[in-house]
Amino acid sequence: MNTTTQASATRLTPVSRTLPVLLAMEDDAEDVGRLSPDDRLTCHVHGRWIHQCVASPLHVNPVTRHRWCRTCATALTVSIDELSGAVTMSCPRCGHGGSAASARLTAACRASLAAVRGRSAGGSRQRAA
Ligand SMILES: [Zn+2]
Ligand SMILES: [Zn+2]
Repeated sequence: MNTTTQASATRLTPVSRTLPVLLAMEDDAEDVGRLSPDDRLTCHVHGRWIHQCVASPLHVNPVTRHRWCRTCATALTVSIDELSGAVTMSCPRCGHGGSAASARLTAACRASLAAVRGRSAGGSRQRAA
């Protein structure tokens, strides 16, 4: 399952696309069931890259346990390092609080961060012709 979702996220990662374009693409893909909401790199509520608004309380969900520590009934704190691309989530009370949902959210944040960085870096991973 992870392989499939990562593949679709990679396929939709648009090195040269702007946020509004990807937002619309992901809306369409989600509507037809080709993209899981968890794998989106953009947020249709905030209209931003997911890593830019994941700290919003709207991205906390005690039912699905997105950004939620069940043990402490506390929202996880998000830490994003735009320079290194590191994204972590942890419970401010117990220091843990991970869940499958939060792990996917973290992965989506890393991917959106990478998409933004990839654009400005000019695709450093591509082989020079
Ligand atoms: Zn959002
Ligand atoms: Zn906790």
